[in-house]
Amino acid sequence: MNELTGKTVLVTGANRGIGRALADRFLALGATTLLTARSAAAREALARDFAGAGDRVRVFGCDIADPDSVRALRDAVAAAVPQFDVLVNNAGVFVKRDRLMYADDLDPRVLEETLRTNLFGTIAMCTAFIPLIPSGGRIINVSSTMGQLSDGGLEPYAVAYSVSKAALNAYTSALANRLRERHILADVVHPGWVQTDMGGPGAQISPEEGTETIAFLATRPAGETGRFWSQKRVVDW
Ligand code: NAP
Repeated sequence: MNELTGKTVLVTGANRGIGRALADRFLALGATTLLTARSAAAREALARDFAGAGDRVRVFGCDIADPDSVRALRDAVAAAVPQFDVLVNNAGVFVKRDRLMYADDLDPRVLEETLRTNLFGTIAMCTAFIPLIPSGGRIINVSSTMGQLSDGGLEPYAVAYSVSKAALNAYTSALANRLRERHILADVVHPGWVQTDMGGPGAQISPEEGTETIAFLATRPAGETGRFWSQKRVVDW
């Protein structure tokens, strides 16, 4: 039996990059997978790719930066399944202009755009779906070591992205402490520097390799919660 047989996993931003590789990975692990994609074209492509999987793959629409869209997703998912076991908040943005801006020259519009998805969108997903996650479930928020404050602090560039991930880490710590009594684990993970549209062609690992620690967190026995993970190890905040 595969490790996630009988379990259901929801992955946001599953149409490309790490999210798309997670869809394959969770299906191979035996899970029923609920996948989200923003555009109709992306949803159709996902549905085509997984046509052979039958009921084990369901595709939904959602723009996580839009609270109405998150609510509509919650209603659609609740109508499809009574509960699910693992929420992977993978969807995220790294705005092009952010890469060229330094901390003393930050355009607040870029910060706002970034936070709307990476922080507020992810928080909206957590708050919308926690009622559907039973004891033993887990929330895995995909973060980045670019938001790591230890070891010299944040880089002076790409500040919007880094701040969004540092804030996501902080939020997840609070969430984990809130959910501890309900035995729901909540963690953040750095997937590695991954060859995706976001990571670029010079990145170190494939999208499949980028799923390693996320799959590890989805399948590990219950244990510590509220941690920052990289390469299957807890790292400093
Ligand atoms: P990617 O290739 O750019 O894919 C991003 C995914 O997120 C796409 O499916 C995109 O959908 C979706 N998305 C973006 N904004 C959204 C929104 N508002 N609502 C719903 N979906 C949205 O990026 P990736 O490299 O796979 O990154 C996945 C996650 O890993 C992100 O959280 C990223 O910060 C994190 N990460 C990546 C790296 C890396 O090296 N690649 C390193 C550290 C952390 P559309 O197709 O509709 O745009």
